[in-house]
Amino acid sequence: MTDDPSEQARHPAVAALAEVRAAIDAACRDAQRDPASVMLVAVSKTFPAEAIMPVIAAGQRIFGENRVQEAKAKWPPLLDGTPGIGLHLIGALQSNKARDAVALFDAIHSVDRDSLCAALSKEIAQQHRKLQLFVQINTGAEPQKAGVLPQDADDFIARCRNHHGLTIGGLMCIPPADDPPAPHFALTAMIARRNGLPSLSMGMSADFDTAIALGATHVRVGSAIFGARPKAGGV
Ligand SMILES: *Cc1c(COP(=O)(O)O)cnc(C)c1O
Repeated sequence: MTDDPSEQARHPAVAALAEVRAAIDAACRDAQRDPASVMLVAVSKTFPAEAIMPVIAAGQRIFGENRVQEAKAKWPPLLDGTPGIGLHLIGALQSNKARDAVALFDAIHSVDRDSLCAALSKEIAQQHRKLQLFVQINTGAEPQKAGVLPQDADDFIARCRNHHGLTIGGLMCIPPADDPPAPHFALTAMIARRNGLPSLSMGMSADFDTAIALGATHVRVGSAIFGARPKAGGV
């Protein structure tokens, strides 16, 4: 990647980023919401630093990754170059990677079990870090998918707060691929509301406008910005 700004501006991801931002603004207008209430998390998983640099140069500051190891290898040099970048972990987190995750990430969208809560609680205290935490809800009750079942969510959120001493900022969901997403977004929003949680991480490239209409505060958009991912390293 060249350092020439005009060269970087011609990068396809930069044009795509502008389109996604415009679409977010339009969805906010339709929903009579302030565009500042929706954070774009640019999902850069599987893409190398060279593909991310032009997007940083275009002003994007919040990025999503789904693997701790990949992020740890890729991001430190990029973070050194630009102040104000925030990294969000959007994929499953093993408890034994909690230390690295707490050190590197500013938000974790995949809190879903007590063992992980205990590990996060310990690391957040030891490292004196402040992270935004989302509880992932498995709204479709898919056996292969991470997340807390909707009927267990209230109890789990209470345990996060009371037993583990964690501050939970919101909920995250990934609707089943073959379902219309709106009911899953609405269910997630309802669980958040009754638990007094302000943030909602929902909506991806295909459905972030629907998610915004239903209250999303964080949309996680990958392929609409960076292009298609190679199949093997994808979702
Ligand atoms: C990969 C991923 C995304 C981004 O998906 P796109 O369809 O490429 O926008 C969002 N959320 C999670 C949890 C992901 O793993």
